[in-house]
Amino acid sequence: MATDVICGMKVKESTDLKSEFQGKTFYFCNSHCKSVFDKNPQKYSR
Ligand SMILES: [Zn+2]
Repeated sequence: MATDVICGMKVKESTDLKSEFQGKTFYFCNSHCKSVFDKNPQKYSR
C-alpha cells in the first residue's frame, strides 16, 4: 500500500491515479487529490 500525501489515505499502487515527480511515484485516492498534488508537487513530495 502507498499513502496519498494529500489526504493521508492508504491507496493501492495499482491505481491509475498517480503522478511522478523527481523520480518518485505518488499515488492518490481520487482525481481531486491528484490535481492538488500536480499544482504544487514540491510542497507534498518531501
Ligand atoms: Zn486523497
